[in-house]
Amino acid sequence: MKDTKFKPANNIQDLQYFGEFGGVNPSISDSSTYTFLSAKTMFDTFEGNADGCYLYSRHSTPSNLYLGEALAAMEGTETANVAASGMGAITPTILQFCEAGDHVVSSRTIYGGTYAFLKNFTPRLNIQTSFVDITKLEAVEAAITPKTKIIFCECVSNPLLEIADIAGLAKIAKKHGLQLLVDNTFSPLTISPAKLGADVVMHSLTKFINGASDTMGGVVCGSQELIDTLRNVNDGACMLLGASMDSLRAASILKNLRTLHIRMQQHSHNALYLAEKFEKDGLRTVYPGLKSHPGHELYNSMMNDKYGYGGMLTIDAGSLEKANALMELMQEKNLGYLAVSLGFYKTLFSAPGSSTSSEIPEDEQKEMGLSDGLIRFSIGLDADIERTYAMMRDCMVQVGVV
Ligand SMILES: *Cc1c(COP(=O)(O)O)cnc(C)c1O
Repeated sequence: MKDTKFKPANNIQDLQYFGEFGGVNPSISDSSTYTFLSAKTMFDTFEGNADGCYLYSRHSTPSNLYLGEALAAMEGTETANVAASGMGAITPTILQFCEAGDHVVSSRTIYGGTYAFLKNFTPRLNIQTSFVDITKLEAVEAAITPKTKIIFCECVSNPLLEIADIAGLAKIAKKHGLQLLVDNTFSPLTISPAKLGADVVMHSLTKFINGASDTMGGVVCGSQELIDTLRNVNDGACMLLGASMDSLRAASILKNLRTLHIRMQQHSHNALYLAEKFEKDGLRTVYPGLKSHPGHELYNSMMNDKYGYGGMLTIDAGSLEKANALMELMQEKNLGYLAVSLGFYKTLFSAPGSSTSSEIPEDEQKEMGLSDGLIRFSIGLDADIERTYAMMRDCMVQVGVV
């Protein structure tokens, strides 16, 4: 483990990379392949014995390593490997840990794509998953079998914003010799899962970390041993499944990462303001920063205070019709966009039941509390949130939500 005395954003600040000619940004490696001074070094590199040499860009590139090291510094892990998308980081990591016959214990409220992968895809490889209520540690432990290899969860779950007790889950994982894999996409900087005992921390960089909704990206943060394994030319899932990031994108994401701490503070500030107002207006509002949130105290015990409770909140508009009418009106008033994804400067909203979580069958949606009228908001960076609230309230009155 690296020095964990500093808060994550300071770790990013402390990195020092220069370009080839002293540029304040590292040079972008615009090559898919690399020359070797000797044939022997090429052989050694294939064998994994020539640190610092680049082989081929699906394996690694200088630009990808810069971004990976910055993200590892943020999460406090030894190192990291970036990927072409969040799913391009999550799926190979799960496959690296599990072989045919193995078993996964996963939170039942996770990103729709990850859910579909574990529910519909990995059974084809005879990897079975038990989906549990991640807020109940005894349910997690009870689901573990002799075949279980990993526990998978999100710190703040999509879309219900349930809070996972990372330290409690890490204890269970350790006791049973399992790996705890955590998707931290919803709570970058605010929660540092590795510091709470998670073995592997993953992100979709597509969301808050890049924050510009102009590219996809993903990362796996973990031990040097894990990352070497994932990149191994003979049996590494990242290397062989091929979802590698392009260097130009790695360079652009690295530049956006540097303002993440400021953006998260503003997302959190705006989201807390709106959540408190919505709740006072009598709307069923879910936000980890509200005292009414069942995971509020737990979140307080895990969070890095200054980044707040994040930018995601949900309200219940009562029905899908009302939710749709409200979202269309808010878009018309330029309060945000009716779009999936998160972490943009504009507010984004969608009804997860019929969009991002539509992979989850209707009866299961009901059971986990995912109602038809649920609207998921990714609150933007609005400079005047009081005005935004007043305009949103007008829309809500107009469609009869409040
Ligand atoms: C978007 C998202 C993913 C998938 O990431 P992509 O970059 O879209 O592949 C995974 N987990 C969570 C929590 C997400 O929001």
